[in-house]
Amino acid sequence: MTTDLSGLTAIITGGASGIGRATAQLLSERGADVAVLDLHPDNLPRPLRGFTTDVGDDTSVRRAVTAAAQDLGGIDILVNNAGIGATGTIEDNPDEQWHAVLNINLLGTVRTTRAALPYLRSSAHASVVNTCSIAATAGLPHRALYSASKGAVFSLTLAMAADHVREGIRVNCVTPGTVDTPWVARLLNDATDPAAERAALNDRQPTGRLVSAPEVAAAIAYLASPAAGSTTGTTIAVDGGMAGLRLRPQPTR
Ligand code: NAD
Repeated sequence: MTTDLSGLTAIITGGASGIGRATAQLLSERGADVAVLDLHPDNLPRPLRGFTTDVGDDTSVRRAVTAAAQDLGGIDILVNNAGIGATGTIEDNPDEQWHAVLNINLLGTVRTTRAALPYLRSSAHASVVNTCSIAATAGLPHRALYSASKGAVFSLTLAMAADHVREGIRVNCVTPGTVDTPWVARLLNDATDPAAERAALNDRQPTGRLVSAPEVAAAIAYLASPAAGSTTGTTIAVDGGMAGLRLRPQPTR
């Protein structure tokens, strides 16, 4: 069956879990040949191909991108999705942690895109999609470092879109709200009262529930597809209305 991504090739960092995994599966279902670049590319469903990669290390990234491009026969779509979290105010995270998180969330995106650019330049449908966050555009408490890293990814998305538009490479991002992934499950497990924490996260979103990984994957797949050929340098918010809506408090139940 021919679908909108048939004949295209895609690489996805952090594609072994959560948003990345849902995206890898969706792009594959829609016809793309997909490679997952992850620290632990284990137990991937067929036909996804896994490449062990640390986006925090330039040698590892170059090796994996080259191997994936050779295996797939090129790269049309790059999804920069690998990321790690951090909690606290600016008083809580030592310099080493700032360097570590920026190294993965920001420089990981730089490294992977840099290594993929020669292949993207050869594609007739080149698209880069970065997984950003609502934390880039809204002030969330106790997320100083994480928010700064995603704010940088947001700005980088715009700058890369400008630098590469004349080469036929589109660059966009998605800004999810809180997404129900293993990452958030770990955060909830660490909370003193996981049920109360989940309820608070649900309530923070105007839709009253967490975003699902397939909902974010659908937005990434759109931005990655030739159907979005006139869309570059922008974001799709998949945040349950968090960024744009101002609701009045619920009437007492
Ligand atoms: P997750 O923890 O379920 O998956 C992250 C994946 O990235 C894992 O497979 C992990 O092995 C991989 N990874 C981590 N460090 C890596 C490295 N150095 N090199 C290669 N791979 C690495 O997380 P998720 O919730 O699916 O988050 C994915 C992305 O979405 C992240 O960039 C995150 O910041 C962003 N995001 C998540 C949420 C949320 O609420 N879950 C909200 C907004 C944005």
